[in-house]
Amino acid sequence: MSSGPVTEARRRSAFDAVDPPEEKKYLECIHCGFCLPSCPTYLEMGNEMDSPRGRIYLIRMADEGKIGITESFVKHMESCLSCRACETACPSGVQFGSLMEKARGQVERKYKRPFSQKVLRRFLFSVLPYPDRMRAMLKVGRLSQRLGLHRLAIHGGLSKSLRVMEELLPPPDEVPAEIPLPRVTPAEGTPRFRVGLLTGCVQRVLYPEVNAATVRVLSRNGCVVVIPTEQGCCGSIQGHEGGLEPARAFARTIIDTFEQAKVDYVIVNAAGCGSMMKGYSDLLRADPQYAHKAETFGNKVRDVLQFLHQIGANGPLGPLPLTVTYHDACHLVHGQRIRNEPRALLKSIPGLHLVELPESDFCCGSAGIYNLVEPEYGAKFLERKVENIVTTGAEVVAMANPGCALQIAMGLRKRTLRIKILHPVELLDLAYRAGEKG
Ligand code: SF4
Ligand code: SF4
Repeated sequence: MSSGPVTEARRRSAFDAVDPPEEKKYLECIHCGFCLPSCPTYLEMGNEMDSPRGRIYLIRMADEGKIGITESFVKHMESCLSCRACETACPSGVQFGSLMEKARGQVERKYKRPFSQKVLRRFLFSVLPYPDRMRAMLKVGRLSQRLGLHRLAIHGGLSKSLRVMEELLPPPDEVPAEIPLPRVTPAEGTPRFRVGLLTGCVQRVLYPEVNAATVRVLSRNGCVVVIPTEQGCCGSIQGHEGGLEPARAFARTIIDTFEQAKVDYVIVNAAGCGSMMKGYSDLLRADPQYAHKAETFGNKVRDVLQFLHQIGANGPLGPLPLTVTYHDACHLVHGQRIRNEPRALLKSIPGLHLVELPESDFCCGSAGIYNLVEPEYGAKFLERKVENIVTTGAEVVAMANPGCALQIAMGLRKRTLRIKILHPVELLDLAYRAGEKG
């Protein structure tokens, strides 16, 4: 998608005219450094170029043609988690996530990656957005897990990534069977809203019970829940990595599908997907056919916890005598600024004792495909997260993103910790059921 005529500046720039990082966005950075203490990669790597301010500087230098898209430029762009903690900290309102997606898009087109990395990325992008392919790959993954096939990879980096893939897979007895959900679930009592539900890709395959719990809780709160079968991936897996064209194709299908379903709201229970879908208007701004539709659509998107808090979730909730801690998924707390709503809902459950997690909004290292393409750093951020979880003494850690759930479950398994991972909507669902019994 072109950003306009070829100007002198564009001729000098290391970026091409297809979705370059926008000058007006990077110029919003006033170099104050307030973002540095909240940036996990800066704290871990201790290098200015692995901080938000340093990366913005590199993007500007590249756009001004002072540096090229070199190996070093790529390294600093790719060491970023895209967690957007810097956006929360930034007093100047720099849209770092958008700058990073566009810089990565440029890297994707203009940088020749080593063959093994290219193969790995192609593989991930051709499997993860498609639940059927993911289910098939789960079987291959299981075999690989049993035989340790990562050892066969000649390239050391690829072998490490494959090893993480094997370790990420939940044990066979923890992978739930597919849960078929009706296309339309009626509201319990008087209908208040007609909502559509995004069932997601990873969520649908690995955490179908989260979708089932979401439907039950929404229905109990007066929602007619529509699940259009035509929905595909929301585009976040590719979009967050700079694959903006494939993300746009996915976005158009999602918009059309939910438009046809004639819903008041589109509900999402995966933070990364919700953040992407709320940003469709930016993604499709230059598309004359979809720009307006994308804006209307974006205004209808709600994270399920945001929505339940907004409409005032109905009782009666039964007691759940559990000590729970809550991990803030980056794309919920930083991408959508949803921090208090999940906590308020959890606190509304009788008997549930919510313990605040130290550094709750510090990335767990999952970050889309980060844990696979940057396995060593992914592991370091995970260790820090698990260490923090242990200090809370919680028996359940709640979170609202399947990528975080997979990553943190891997960390807990490695330390043989018997701490359960649940989506807050599953805890609400359990409380409703407890209320029925009482
Ligand atoms: S997105 Fe996260 S890792 Fe990247 S620069 Fe911002 S705070 Fe640091
Ligand atoms: S806080 Fe914002 S303005 Fe300040 S250095 Fe970081 S990105 Fe730039």
